[in-house]
Amino acid sequence: MRVEHNPVICLLGCGGFIGSHLLCRLLAGGAYSVIGVDIASDRIQHLLDHPHFEFVCADVYDTAALEPLIAKSSIVISLVALCNPWLYTTRPVEVIEINYLHPLNLIRQCSAQGQWLIQFSTSEVYGKTVAAVAGLGDDASHQLLDEDTTPFVLGPLAAQRWCYAAAKQLLERTIYAWGFERNLRYTIVRPFNFIGPRMDYIPGVDGEGIPRVMACFMEALMKGQPLKLVDGGESRRVFTYIDDAVDAVCAMLAHPVQARNQVFNIGNPANEVSIAQLAQRMIDIYRRLRMLPPHHEIAITKIDGCQLYGEGYEDSDRRIPSIAKAQRLLQWQPRVGLEDALEKTMQGYIDYYTTRLEQAV
Ligand code: UDP
Repeated sequence: MRVEHNPVICLLGCGGFIGSHLLCRLLAGGAYSVIGVDIASDRIQHLLDHPHFEFVCADVYDTAALEPLIAKSSIVISLVALCNPWLYTTRPVEVIEINYLHPLNLIRQCSAQGQWLIQFSTSEVYGKTVAAVAGLGDDASHQLLDEDTTPFVLGPLAAQRWCYAAAKQLLERTIYAWGFERNLRYTIVRPFNFIGPRMDYIPGVDGEGIPRVMACFMEALMKGQPLKLVDGGESRRVFTYIDDAVDAVCAMLAHPVQARNQVFNIGNPANEVSIAQLAQRMIDIYRRLRMLPPHHEIAITKIDGCQLYGEGYEDSDRRIPSIAKAQRLLQWQPRVGLEDALEKTMQGYIDYYTTRLEQAV
């Protein structure tokens, strides 16, 4: 990286799905120099020689490696997370360590040295809707989740699904406390199901286990297998296109005073669907993208959540963000509708995986 006077951002997890898209945008804008840390760099090969980028191949929890990099930066963006429901029920210790314990050093260092910490959290912190728990039914479950007033509602201890939400909640509370007591400058981001090209993996090709729903459905579509609806596919999600998510982070960087010590929901409330509706829309888009005849059969099947993910699986029934705060303070507005977001994401999978899947057979 050239010596220069741009603010330096330390991007932890620069090689992941969100990181690779964000890195691309930060470098294209020319206003920042970026030190990126990750163990993987396959998604960012095209950026490795960029004059404003220094890639450090290191474990993001290697404190000794990280400390000098953070010391050189004025902003730290931490994207590191294990965020995959299958891991919550199969590797909960690792989920808690990576999502809560490891980032603690980062908080201490940023607080001591004055870096602005932009920490990615999750919409999962909201858990289930209050309406679902109180048995109020669907009528009340559509209430918007508000960063500063909505309570967090999780399941019992043995429902290990919630270990990720609990870890991120405690991370948020720790950051909040350090802001309150020790002058930490921070911004917390709660993503609502970001989707886009280069997200997740296909089991047997570039990962193992059960990825998130977009990748599960794409795997099924591309292998000609049935799409599985967990517990009937009644849960609902808001899917947010990655370009809108990257816009939101750029808006935070552009509004440092307004973003200071705030939590922001980042999601597109107009893009809500049930998982059953998602399956149908993806089938329709897949037929169109692949120019399959209408009589080409694509099946949908149902599966019990605990059967797929293991004991301890529960689901978040619904989560629609209020984005009023991000609109007001950051002038941010999501723009990509569901159809467009799905089509671009699915095309990304088709381009990347068609040959790889053939080779994996
Ligand atoms: N899901 C599904 N079929 C699959 C994978 C996931 O019906 O093959 C459901 C899952 O039970 C949940 C929703 O899709 O209701 C979203 O799950 P995902 O793993 O993408 O992440 P989450 O939003 O729960 O963190």
